[in-house]
Amino acid sequence: MALTGIQIMKMLPKKNCGECGVPTCLAFAMKVAAGQADIAECPYVSDEVKQKIGEASAPPIRTVILGSGDNQVILGGETCLYRHEKRFEHPTAFAVLIDTSMQEDDIQGRMDRFNKLRYERVGLTLRADMIALRDSDGDESKFVALIEKTRETCPDAVLVLMSATPKVLAAGAKACGEHKPLLYCATSDNADQMAEVAKEVECPLAVKGATLGKTADISARLQEAGLKDLVLDTGARTVRGVFEDQIVMRRASIKHKHRPVGFPSICFPCEMTQDPLAESIIASVLLAKYAGILVFSDLQGDTLFPLLLERLNIYTDPQRPMVVQEDIYPINGPDENSPVLITCNFSLTYFIVSGEVEGSKVPAWLLIKDTEGLSVLTAWAAGKFSADLIASFVKKSGIEEKVKHRSLIIPGYLASIKGELEEELPDWNIQIGPREASHLPAYLRDWQPA
Ligand code: SF4
Repeated sequence: MALTGIQIMKMLPKKNCGECGVPTCLAFAMKVAAGQADIAECPYVSDEVKQKIGEASAPPIRTVILGSGDNQVILGGETCLYRHEKRFEHPTAFAVLIDTSMQEDDIQGRMDRFNKLRYERVGLTLRADMIALRDSDGDESKFVALIEKTRETCPDAVLVLMSATPKVLAAGAKACGEHKPLLYCATSDNADQMAEVAKEVECPLAVKGATLGKTADISARLQEAGLKDLVLDTGARTVRGVFEDQIVMRRASIKHKHRPVGFPSICFPCEMTQDPLAESIIASVLLAKYAGILVFSDLQGDTLFPLLLERLNIYTDPQRPMVVQEDIYPINGPDENSPVLITCNFSLTYFIVSGEVEGSKVPAWLLIKDTEGLSVLTAWAAGKFSADLIASFVKKSGIEEKVKHRSLIIPGYLASIKGELEEELPDWNIQIGPREASHLPAYLRDWQPA
């Protein structure tokens, strides 16, 4: 049962020293109760209290970490039903299925697509994260050979190892070395043997029941056996069945703290249809409704890319705008005669503007002013992109040492501040740039200093 802020407060030292980053113990207790702070951030609580509060304030959906080093997938850790209540913590992982029974060409093709289908957007690399390797005939050496090939060909893939035979799964996990794959899966028939394997190799274990209720029963049994890191497959293979199970699990864990289902899920759109387009549509529905891992039959750019963007949208923190650092960004190798543009630090604005400038092939300096992630007009309206602030930034940025001229291009939407800015920057000529970033290349090619 989760503790309230007041209950947590009673266990704190009540020094109100602020060393935890908030001014009072009460404020800190409230943050811990809301899952926004870790009890360990207070240096004065005893280990006993840390353990007591830590367990009680753990997220209702357990955080499960797969992989190793820089190549990790973190699942779960979720604390809310709807993104606008707080945020979703860890994005759904995308996996492609490879089976030991597949032809060599098919296997290689899937691995090549895993490596190739990567997209740069707003400074992030969007890509699939995992490869699910399935042993279809209980052949240990064939399975281990496939794992070794995958580790060599796709070194940044986090693995799911799938086999009905505990011995094969154990051999596969050992072949992964330090890398911690997800073992799939414990069923009502083999749960005890699979639990032994998961304990021996110290890997998270997936659980699959015939229904959600039976999955919860196996999960409870495995927790009693001492396993902590589980991932749940409710066994449903219809869109409606999986959709309902996802919602019931999330509600039961968040609203009622029902521990047997308080784990991330794994879903198999690849087993729900033969049609690749239908598979991606099913995946998009489950992505919106809490899937922890989605396993695809293959990866194709035309269906993967929209899903990656959907994931980016859902798992971007709605309370924290994406920003780039305030700085001078040189584009296309500018020199002392190159134009100087200024815009805000909302990352979408930065990447659109810098992309257009780069595409123009005109060397230029792009000044990025910190507007706390607000876009140009919003920042101006909020007083964060006003003439005095822009002038102060231009003066301290160091751009005056980089260019001989004194012409500054401001976004077309800010034409009205030209006069104010000229007063604040008397040595500079203010030029009004285009309103749309797409018109920048033509503007820059014709640009002359004032
Ligand atoms: S560091 Fe500990 S004692 Fe100090 S204010 Fe925070 S919770 Fe209270």
